[in-house]
Amino acid sequence: MTRTRTILIVGGGTAGWLAAAYLARYLGVREDGPIRITLLESQDIGIVGVGEGTFPTIRGTLKFLGIDETRFMRETAATFKQGIRFDRWVTGAEDDSFFHPFEAPFPMEGAGLVPYWLLQERDARPPFAQAMTFQPRVAEARRAPKRGPEGDFEAPLNYAYHFDAAKAAAALARCARDLGVLHLQGTVTDVMLGPDGAIDHVLTREQGPLSADFYLDCSGFRAELIGRALGVPQKPVKPILATDRALSCKVPHGMPDAPLESVTLATAHAAGWTWDIGLEGGRGIGCVYSSDHMSDDAAEAALRAYLAPMLGRDAAPPPLRRIAFDPGYRETPWVKNCVAIGLSGGFLEPLESTSVVLVEVAVGMLAELFPHDGDWQAPAARFNELMTRRFENIVAFLKLHYCLSRREEPFWRDNRDPATIPPGLRDLLARWRTRPPSRFDFALDLEAFAYFNYQYILYGMGFETDLSAARGAYPDVDAARKTFARIQAYGDHAIRDLPAHRALIRRLNQTSA
Ligand code: FAD
Repeated sequence: MTRTRTILIVGGGTAGWLAAAYLARYLGVREDGPIRITLLESQDIGIVGVGEGTFPTIRGTLKFLGIDETRFMRETAATFKQGIRFDRWVTGAEDDSFFHPFEAPFPMEGAGLVPYWLLQERDARPPFAQAMTFQPRVAEARRAPKRGPEGDFEAPLNYAYHFDAAKAAAALARCARDLGVLHLQGTVTDVMLGPDGAIDHVLTREQGPLSADFYLDCSGFRAELIGRALGVPQKPVKPILATDRALSCKVPHGMPDAPLESVTLATAHAAGWTWDIGLEGGRGIGCVYSSDHMSDDAAEAALRAYLAPMLGRDAAPPPLRRIAFDPGYRETPWVKNCVAIGLSGGFLEPLESTSVVLVEVAVGMLAELFPHDGDWQAPAARFNELMTRRFENIVAFLKLHYCLSRREEPFWRDNRDPATIPPGLRDLLARWRTRPPSRFDFALDLEAFAYFNYQYILYGMGFETDLSAARGAYPDVDAARKTFARIQAYGDHAIRDLPAHRALIRRLNQTSA
C-alpha cells in the first residue's frame, strides 16, 4: 500500500485556497513532513469571485486557520451578516417582507416557544422571526452583532460575513502559504490517467507535467479533473430550482455615512430575485433569474430598475458581469484519487449562500477521513454519500422559498407545480400542516439547515400549521408570554447597547493590525 504524501490542488479560488489552508493546518504540512500540498492556479483563467455571503460556520473555520478576525475583515472589505431579509417573496407587495436570522429561536423548556406563537391569533401576533429572537430588531436598527472588534469571532449574536470573494481568496492564499502550501502558476492542459483509471499526472503549459498521490479539483465550473478528465456527470437540479443565470455588479455607497445593512437583502422579482450586499466601500448587487422565464435583456432591465434609486440620474451605470450556470451537483465528487470541492463539485444558486459553507463541510470531512494509508475506497464512499445528502437537503430547503410563494408570475406558478417539489419535501410539508418542523425531521449532524431554519422560512412566508387538535399539549401559556416579553426587553437593551454597524466597521478598519 502506498502512503499518501503529495496533494495537488488545481484552482486558486475560495475553494482551492480554503482547502489548501485547512488541509495544511489539519494534516500538518512541513518541509520534512509526510504531507506536501501544492496549489496550481491559472493566470489566464479568472475566479468566479462573486460569492459574498457566508454562513456562521466560517468563523470557526477562520479561527481554526489561526486567522485574525479584524485583519481578515479589513483585507476582504467585510461587513457583518446577521441573516437575510426577504422582500416581495410571498405576494410581491411592497410591504411583503420577512427575516431569516442566524439566531435560533429563544429556548424555553418543554415544547419551546413555537407552538405558543402558532396558537396566537394570526392577526394579533408579531412576525415569527421578530417573536422568536431579537436579532431581526437589531439588524433593522442597523446595529452590529457585537460591541467591538475585540474578542475574535465571539459575539452576543450569531453572525457571518459579507466579503469581497476575490479578496477573501487572496487572504486565504496568504494563510495557506504561511502554513507551508507551495503555490505554482500554471494552466492544466491535459490530465493523464493511469491503468486503474486514477489520475497519474496533469500536463501544464507553464510547469510541464505535475504528479501527486492525491488531487483536489477546485477548478470551478470548468471541472477540469472530475468532469473533463474523469467524466463524472452532474445531477441536474434545474427541474426543481429553475434559476440558471446571474448578472452582478458593484456600486458605491450613496453617502459615506449612510447606515450599513448587516443582512443580505433578497428581493424577489418576476422570474427570480436580486441580492444586495453592503460591503465596506460599496455594495455588491446581482440579479438571479431563470432563462426559461426571463430574457437576458429583461433581467438587465430589472437590475437597472433596482439600481436606479441608488445611482442618481447622472451617474454612469455600473458594468454588469454575466454568469451562466448549470444548477446541479456531482453525486460522486470523490473518484479514486480525485475529490472535487467548490463549484466543480456542484452549484445550486446563490440563495442562502450555501457554496462556501459546502466547501467548509467538504474540506472538514476530507481532512478527517483522509486516507493516509492510500486506501481511497471507504472514505470516498462515505464522503460521496454525505455530500450527496447535503446537496439534496439544501435543494429542498431552497425550494421551500419558491414553492411557498403566492406570486402569480409564470416563474412562481411553475415553482408551485407539485411535480417540481422533491417528494421528501412534499411529505414534510404535509406533516407540518399539523405540527411545526421538529429536530427529529432531520439527521442533525448532517444538515446545513436545521429545523428552525425551516420554521423561519415557513412561518415567515405565512405557512399555516393548525395546532388546534393539540392545544391541550401546550399548557405553559404564562411562561411563553413571559419569554416573549423578555425577548422584546432584550431587544430594547441590545439596540441601546450595540454600536451602529457602520460605526463598528469604521472602527475595525482603523484598528492597526
Ligand atoms: P473559482 O472561483 O471559479 O476558481 C476556480 C479556479 O480554478 C481559478 O483559480 C482558476 O484559475 C482555476 N482554474 C480553472 N481551470 C484551470 C486550469 N485548467 N488550470 C489551472 N487552474 C485552473 N457562494 C457563497 O457561499 N455565497 C454567495 O453569496 C455566493 N454567491 C454566488 C453568486 C453567483 C452568481 C455565483 C455564480 C456563485 C456564488 N457563490 C456564492 C459561489 C462562490 O462564488 C463559489 O463557491 C466560490 O467562489 C468558490 O469557487 P471555486 O473556488 O470553486 O471556483
